[in-house]
Amino acid sequence: MKIAVRMDDIAPGMDWVKFGRFKALLDEYKIKPLIGVVPDNQDENLKRTHEGGTSCDNPVPEDFWGYIKKLQDDGWVIAMHGYQHVYTRKKGGLFPLNHFSEFAGLDYDRQFDMLVRGREIMESHGIGTDIFMPPAHSYDKNTLKALRKAGFCKITDGFGKEPYFWNEMCFYPISFRLDSDLKKKKGMTTMVVHTNTVSGKDMEKYRRIFKENDIMPYGEYLKMKAVKRGLCGRGAEYLSACVKHLLVKLL
Ligand SMILES: [Zn+2]
Repeated sequence: MKIAVRMDDIAPGMDWVKFGRFKALLDEYKIKPLIGVVPDNQDENLKRTHEGGTSCDNPVPEDFWGYIKKLQDDGWVIAMHGYQHVYTRKKGGLFPLNHFSEFAGLDYDRQFDMLVRGREIMESHGIGTDIFMPPAHSYDKNTLKALRKAGFCKITDGFGKEPYFWNEMCFYPISFRLDSDLKKKKGMTTMVVHTNTVSGKDMEKYRRIFKENDIMPYGEYLKMKAVKRGLCGRGAEYLSACVKHLLVKLL
């Protein structure tokens, strides 16, 4: 199976030491990922200092947006990861991996307004994107409608072995269970990484995965042919998300 890499929770206050270590690994294997950038982060969980690190390890870039632009120019793909990354609703929406959300559960006008504000912030720094990464994977019908209206046509979420169209949006699936997906011969998926919480053991695992598997640049994933998905496919995906939610809770 071909694997693309996505990194969540990219914000000015993230753990830059851990980000830097993971980026060095990506650079070593010449992997260009998708990164989900929060336009106006207000989530205290994403404002971190690195335990045991020094500011010399990987200093915070003075110009956050300039740094993101540089990554984009270097072939990294940028998605907008919500607006402020604050969970105000206890909703899982149409892909209920989690039962909280920034977007799902809000009315259409509010969601549209948040998307436009986020988009304006990114564009004011010269960063354009039509890819949305819903915080907590939570979105609903209003999110999809508002996304289309705000000029987004791609979502990094869902389950499946190839990109698919549904509701006039193109979905780029993420891995259901990475270990079993890695054993499959056909298809493609996304490995999701939260660098803020990556441990030394995780880093070893990622190194092994990069060494032994077919990792594609995210830009290549975006060029793959998307198939149509009907209601049955979406129903199966919804159930899979419920199962995954339960498994994560139990483990
Ligand atoms: Zn997030």
